[in-house]
Amino acid sequence: MSSLPKDAPPEGLALVAEREAALLAPYAFFSHQSAGRKYPESEHAYRSPFQRDRDRIVHSAGFRRLSGKMQVFTDRGDYHRTRLTHTMEVASIARTFARALRLNEDLVEALALLHDIGHPPFGHAGEDALSECLEDDGGFSHNRFALTLVEELEQRHSEFPGLNLSREVLLGQADRVDKSDPNRSRLLEVQIVDLADSMTYNAHDVDDAVKLGLVGYEDLNDVPLVRRAMEHAGFRDARPSRRRSAVVYSLLRLQVDDVLLKTGRELANSSWTSSDQVMAEGYVIGPDGELADQKKELERFLHQRVYRHQELMAVRQIAQQQLRELHAFFVGNADRMPSLFHERAGQVGPARAAADYIAGMTDRFCRKSYQEFVAGRP
Ligand code: MG
Repeated sequence: MSSLPKDAPPEGLALVAEREAALLAPYAFFSHQSAGRKYPESEHAYRSPFQRDRDRIVHSAGFRRLSGKMQVFTDRGDYHRTRLTHTMEVASIARTFARALRLNEDLVEALALLHDIGHPPFGHAGEDALSECLEDDGGFSHNRFALTLVEELEQRHSEFPGLNLSREVLLGQADRVDKSDPNRSRLLEVQIVDLADSMTYNAHDVDDAVKLGLVGYEDLNDVPLVRRAMEHAGFRDARPSRRRSAVVYSLLRLQVDDVLLKTGRELANSSWTSSDQVMAEGYVIGPDGELADQKKELERFLHQRVYRHQELMAVRQIAQQQLRELHAFFVGNADRMPSLFHERAGQVGPARAAADYIAGMTDRFCRKSYQEFVAGRP
């Protein structure tokens, strides 16, 4: 170890700073700019603060439970995405963006792995049911619950609750709670995770829906973005067994290339020398006009033909009814929840505490709890 003057940054951080200075663009967010953590901790010898955040997220109980939470489909075999594999796909695409645009890849990865950690069981159906249960208490948002989870409920340190993540990771997640604010100003790292999320689910929901027989290629041929992807993929010449993966690859490639070309050019032509400048200018990363329209059209198609498919609607109704009844049970019997949530009922009220407990459940555990506490009761 070299000897350092007393007021020099810890050696590890200096190494991180060196690496980032060599690799990142001036408009990226650098680790040394971080506003730190709520409960101060010393820097790690060789991991950047956002790398530590990423590791804390991966090692959390909430993250592991994503493997038992549905994305769109449940109980339809083992092919389709779960909330966990969706998250891994988002992280993979977001990191591709980050590396190509020379942004902070560690921050991007932490944000991507965190983004869906607050999803309750049964996807958006579960979220809507919990929101209804908390109608008079501010509703329920999976994006907000992600923050509750990592700031209050996860238990990792003996000195303080939660994961004590860096403020930029928490702010990036907080930005997802209300996306309607036209004046919101976001780091490029936050924006590319959002983009990677929608690109990813658009592509994999097409894949899963075709595989499960909910829609066919003749339907998708009417959706311009998918038609373009099919042309790119040499779809008609591909062997039938390869067609689906060829279309998904092509759908992602089209969208990622488009954004990288457009954004890469705009950033290269800019004279921005800091992430603050980019934010002050209100720069927004997104697909070009035509592709943005086609992306919206694909999303409309998925909403009408897949997410509202009668098979999914039936699953949705059953799940929502079970969630409402389970919630009512725990509101009336807070002592039947684990002690963390029983105690929490005294702090935030039984309705919120019961929703927080249910939101952390996997689909399977939620069904099991319903059987144990509601359906199985004499
Ligand atoms: Mg997502």
